[in-house]
Amino acid sequence: MSKENTSIHEFDLNLICEYFSQLERQGPGSPEVTIKALSFIEGLSETSRIADIGCGTGGQTMVLAQHAPGHIQGLDLFPTFIDLFNNNVQKHHLQERVRGIVGSMDKLPFQPEEFDLIWSEGAIYNIGFERGLKEWKEFLKPGGYVAVSEASWFTEERPHEIEEFWLDAYPGIDTIPNKIAQMQRAGYVPVASFNLPVNCWIEHFYALQTEAQNIFLQKHAGNNAAEGFIANQRHEEKLYYRYKNFYGYVFYIGRKL
Ligand code: SAH
Repeated sequence: MSKENTSIHEFDLNLICEYFSQLERQGPGSPEVTIKALSFIEGLSETSRIADIGCGTGGQTMVLAQHAPGHIQGLDLFPTFIDLFNNNVQKHHLQERVRGIVGSMDKLPFQPEEFDLIWSEGAIYNIGFERGLKEWKEFLKPGGYVAVSEASWFTEERPHEIEEFWLDAYPGIDTIPNKIAQMQRAGYVPVASFNLPVNCWIEHFYALQTEAQNIFLQKHAGNNAAEGFIANQRHEEKLYYRYKNFYGYVFYIGRKL
């Protein structure tokens, strides 16, 4: 990649980061879904250690902290998100138990068998579901839990337009039985899986972006990269409304053997 391209690429990333910084969540989900996923995890106590990987600005981490005992470390690649995360921690008076750090999910700065629970909502796709599950297992105690949400197909077949879109965006998308088999192959007992309800995408994600998009477009008027990015967001949202019977996010919970 030429120097020029590298800087354009970084510029785009900064824009994307700026856009998502305005939102409480950076992916589909809801407090109810976080609490439901947590209900499948047994044996947490005040001394438990939890990691939230790809935590973003921490929308789901704060919910997790309010409903689970123990200490939580959030980790995200983007320092801006981690700054917002740690502000969020202060706001919720959780600084005794929750802390955000900058790091990458493919090189976790953790100790082997450090955690009782590894959490990750809408983020494991960055490394790939099966690879992430395999690599993160090292950091879980035996009997520890993993709980991740991941884009999944709801049917064996689906319309061409949405298949094309996902194969470009995330070729790792797969059906629910295949994802569960991947979890089992990665060395976990599959404990539960459930589909995120449509409100996680509409009310808790897309609806909140309308205003954010207008503010962002006003601020970056005439900037092709910014306008292109918003056009993509809007296209993705339209596809969701059209094809939501064929795909969505699914929470997968597993227990390390
Ligand atoms: N869990 C949050 C954010 C999901 S969006 C939520 O549900 O709202 C995906 C997150 O993964 C983003 O915050 C992004 O910055 C982060 N991310 C992307 N690549 C990463 C990597 N290699 N290591 C850690 N985090 C990463």
